[in-house]
Amino acid sequence: HKWKFGLAGELRQAAARSPSRVALIDEGGPVTYGELLDRTARLAGALPVAPGDRVGILARNSTAMVEALIGVATLGANPVLMNTGLSSGQLAAVTRDQQLRLLIHDPAFTPPQGVPVLPLGQISYAAPLTKPPARPGRTIILTSGTTGVPKGAQRPTPSGFRPLCSIIDRIPLTAGIRMFIAAPLFHAWGFAGLQMALALRATAVLRPRFEPADALETLAAHDCAAMIAVPVMLQRIMEQPAREVPLRIAAVSGSALPGGLATRFMDRYGEVVYNLYGSTEASWASIATPADLRAAPNTAGRPPHGTIVEALDEHGRPVPRGTPGRLFVGNEMLFEGYTNGATRELHKGLLATGDLGHVDEAGRVFVDGRQDDMIVSGGENVFPSEVEDVLAARPEVREVAVIGVADEQYGQRLAAYVVLHDGAELTAEAVRDHVRAELARFSVPRDVVFRPELPRNATGKILKRLLADEQA
Ligand code: ATP
Repeated sequence: HKWKFGLAGELRQAAARSPSRVALIDEGGPVTYGELLDRTARLAGALPVAPGDRVGILARNSTAMVEALIGVATLGANPVLMNTGLSSGQLAAVTRDQQLRLLIHDPAFTPPQGVPVLPLGQISYAAPLTKPPARPGRTIILTSGTTGVPKGAQRPTPSGFRPLCSIIDRIPLTAGIRMFIAAPLFHAWGFAGLQMALALRATAVLRPRFEPADALETLAAHDCAAMIAVPVMLQRIMEQPAREVPLRIAAVSGSALPGGLATRFMDRYGEVVYNLYGSTEASWASIATPADLRAAPNTAGRPPHGTIVEALDEHGRPVPRGTPGRLFVGNEMLFEGYTNGATRELHKGLLATGDLGHVDEAGRVFVDGRQDDMIVSGGENVFPSEVEDVLAARPEVREVAVIGVADEQYGQRLAAYVVLHDGAELTAEAVRDHVRAELARFSVPRDVVFRPELPRNATGKILKRLLADEQA
């Protein structure tokens, strides 16, 4: 029964039931569940590591990456998914911090020193490992590390069943579905996509990098009904000419989904957008369906089966519905702590998300943003997301980020970084006027900076810290 758990267990069960079904398709072609099981078992037999060792995996989405990931888990070693956007200094620090025994890397990325490495594609295959490990390998996902060395968050190793129950409670993923996993597999949401694909005996289509035209082509060519993505990918797809795609589910997570984008995407591609609010530590906390997004475009939806979300005050007491508070999440998919021994604040078994937000009368969750991102200007609290939503609604604006910068008079003042659509024109004064017409006086950005693009991490999240550093 030990084979039931973790990625290796999921694969074994899928291959036993549907050996000839296609499990993965990448640029090299399809691989069936039977083939994938055989290859991962033989790869596990060849890896020079022992059960319990940590093995780094530094690669973009591909069949070879999934083989390495499941191969490591098959022998009871713990895969550490390395974010390919990390700097060489961060990679070296993570390698030390996580005490990696081996690093499997895509030759496109230069591995750090001080650890044995194995380039993907050069791993030999040995006799297949047939005995289940005493303990299933536990996957470790790195936080994005905007403040120092990324921490390793240990994912729990339940069967794929639990995450799946809560997902299908709100998203109509079905067994055998073809899903395009556009989000990186090293990120919690892309990784969850892989877990779900295995549990559903689905076909996962993988591409090493996201290109919007290629994404539309991929959806059509492989008849994908589902796409696992991050919000900025929907925005890039909207910048392409519309085309016929078989998409039924475009599930996004990882950062806030602007309400206007959700609506525009659905106007073009049908009632397909699902917005999941969650984190590496909490998995998903709430899910908005297309109907939720039509009724309240900025909502993060409702907690699915097995999950609760509460807004609490500073003393840990629930705040009344509609009142902002600190968001806490409880479910059976919470992470098991960081590898360095640190944990995150828990309150009666609920995990602090670090976000502020509220739950409305109808039970819908709204995320105002990170507690740390809140701007206090002249004693007034301003959420960047509020100002960003107002500005993103302007047709000239392609994307926008609002941050707080130190100000002698007000403590902090608002700075808006604005990217315009090609050929669009907008002045700083028009930006301020627009905010002034919609929001309170203290929400008007004093600084307005036009940029050709905004700095983003490998999962498409805007790196506000870099913008703040420029101001400092
Ligand atoms: P680090 O902890 O290193 O900074 P990170 O927190 O950016 O990394 P994630 O765990 O992927 O990495 O991010 C989770 C956060 O992203 C949430 O706490 C929330 O602030 C934001 N977020 C994710 N999904 C949504 C969503 N659907 N709506 C609003 N905010 C979201």
